[in-house]
Amino acid sequence: MHDYDAIVVGAGNGGLAAGAALAQSGLKVLMLERHNIPGGSATTFCRGRFEFEVALHQLSDMGTPERPGTLRTLLDSLGVLDEVSFVSMEDLYRVVIPDRLDVTLPVDRQGVVDTLQERFPAEKEAIKKFFDLVYGYGLELYSFYRNPGGEVERFPLLKRYAFRTAGEVMDEFFQDPLLKAVPGAYWGYIGLTPNRLPFSYLSLLYVSYIEMLPCHVRGGSQSLSNAMFNRFLSLGGEAKFNCGAKKIVVRDGVATGVLTDRGEEISARFIVSNASKVATFTDLIDPGEVPKAIFEGMKGRTPSPSSFNIYMGLDCEPGEVGITASTTTILPDEDMSDRHFNQMRRLDTENSVMGFSCYDVADPTFSPPGTCQVALLTLRYAEPWLRVPPSQYAAEKYRCAEAMLRQMERVCPGVRDHIEEIEVATPLTFMRYLNSPYGAIYGFEQYMKDSLFFEASRQMPIKGLYLAGGWVTDCGFAPTIKSGVSAAGAILRQAG
Ligand SMILES: Cc1cc2nc3c(=O)[nH]c(=O)nc-3n(C[C@H](O)[C@H](O)[C@H](O)COP(=O)(O)OP(=O)(O)OC[C@H]3O[C@@H](n4cnc5c(N)ncnc54)[C@H](O)[C@@H]3O)c2cc1C
Repeated sequence: MHDYDAIVVGAGNGGLAAGAALAQSGLKVLMLERHNIPGGSATTFCRGRFEFEVALHQLSDMGTPERPGTLRTLLDSLGVLDEVSFVSMEDLYRVVIPDRLDVTLPVDRQGVVDTLQERFPAEKEAIKKFFDLVYGYGLELYSFYRNPGGEVERFPLLKRYAFRTAGEVMDEFFQDPLLKAVPGAYWGYIGLTPNRLPFSYLSLLYVSYIEMLPCHVRGGSQSLSNAMFNRFLSLGGEAKFNCGAKKIVVRDGVATGVLTDRGEEISARFIVSNASKVATFTDLIDPGEVPKAIFEGMKGRTPSPSSFNIYMGLDCEPGEVGITASTTTILPDEDMSDRHFNQMRRLDTENSVMGFSCYDVADPTFSPPGTCQVALLTLRYAEPWLRVPPSQYAAEKYRCAEAMLRQMERVCPGVRDHIEEIEVATPLTFMRYLNSPYGAIYGFEQYMKDSLFFEASRQMPIKGLYLAGGWVTDCGFAPTIKSGVSAAGAILRQAG
């Protein structure tokens, strides 16, 4: 007899969705979380009179009540949709290269084309053709997903472009490097520069954000995490916070329970791990119990970058410091080559690609009246931060933040004078709070060989063990919530 039907390790998006879906089906579920709040990346924290969003810049796949996207449907099926409200953003994103380029794309296919044609009249025809391709390809991709078998001739655009990078496709259509920088700026959402980013992701980003509208969660992503967690509790789920899993107990190829870091051994028929795949198989399970194929599979993959973030509460409205869009990318130049990719491996943040969100543009109630908040980030790998001696950590962190602020001031003059609260997070902060290898925020890197066409089997070689979260799917809120629901579905099928 087991203590629980299922134990969920980790209360990130994947864990929360799995827990709620399992409890909804009547299973007796225990959730274990190292941190003292649910959400993982999907959390907020408070400083002074501001509640800062940790992660979410743009939520994808929500759609509208009339035309629901996958995420809306999933949240509805979990019974949490009515507990959260969402705010649509009016702009897709703004891209700025100081003194050279400043373009804001609307959330509208024709509007995107018109905006770019007006700014780059010499490439009018190419712009239209490029976005016809982006859409045509994206729609083929969706229909391929729904019905992956069949004749390849049904998918002529997939056949031609499936194994091309975003950079290669932009080179085929565009001449002006400044023009390429506008779609290219999306690379920050996946963490691979355009010369490495599969074109599929660029197409999916445009189609899903335009058709299903970019949103944020009113109250920040913590509201969504709380709603999923409260639903889990109301269905009889139990949870322990400040209580990590130290081991997933595996005997003779079967997961039988969890040993907590408080020293309790709790048994269950099924275990869902929302910890990273790397931590699950190298820290949580005794090596002798892990099939070699798992290590072989992980050897060929690399963790995505982490992030260096500055959270700022400003004592002014966004417009006073030149913040005109919900999401802005600042590029130091139009270079889309490996230079910026390599820069992610450095400590210095001088002249980096960076992005910032300001929810208050679309939702003036997000921060206290007369104020707004900004989350400014640049993607960074953790290695250089791991080499910084502890005695120099604070100084290095503020030096790098200072360089980013200088760059932001070129787009938002005077922003520094309005800072009321500021907090800085480095890749080590993400390592600490998420327990992800090297603080990776997007799971494994999504190179072509690891991209959607080659999705690894979800079949777990350890009976009773299931994974949920950003290490077994694409990164992002919608995919990780979906992965939790899928893990629960697989368990329910197994449980009969
Ligand atoms: C700065 C930043 C910006 C982002 N921007 C966006 C965006 O704009 N749009 C978007 O869609 N996505 C965005 N993302 C990505 C998105 O937030 C993540 O893909 C998603 O939240 C990850 O969910 P997850 O299920 O993988 O869990 P995680 O968020 O990784 O959480 C895992 C949880 O497991 C817990 N845990 C780990 N090990 C143990 C253990 N041994 N025992 C108990 N608990 C454990 C951790 O404490 C954590 O709470 C962003 C992420 C970051 C960090």
